[in-house]
Amino acid sequence: MNLMDKLSNSVSGTAKSIGKKSTDLMEISKLNRSIRKREEDILKLFEEMGQYVYGRLKNLNYITKEEVASLVNKIKKMEEEIKTLDKLILDIKKINYCEGCEIEVEEDAKFCPLCGRNIKR
Ligand SMILES: [Zn+2]
Repeated sequence: MNLMDKLSNSVSGTAKSIGKKSTDLMEISKLNRSIRKREEDILKLFEEMGQYVYGRLKNLNYITKEEVASLVNKIKKMEEEIKTLDKLILDIKKINYCEGCEIEVEEDAKFCPLCGRNIKR
């Protein structure tokens, strides 16, 4: 391979990795938007739950867990979704993640520096 070929190869390689980087960044901001949307929804649900609980306690002086179960479950589900989205972002950034203490660790770490747990790839 002559020098010009080498040069143009490395240039197109760089262009490719820049292209990949910008799609990564777009993907990450999309995921971040989904996370923010869910965080806003969770706040609305908290408000809804607060109003409901307040109304019940003000007028009837009691409330059962079952009455707010569907709201609690909706919030739980969204928290799970946020966790999944967070993980997708870490995957794109190629940052690894300890499932034990839920911290970010180096990409090539085999063990968590905090709890010593095996890091899954
Ligand atoms: Zn850990």
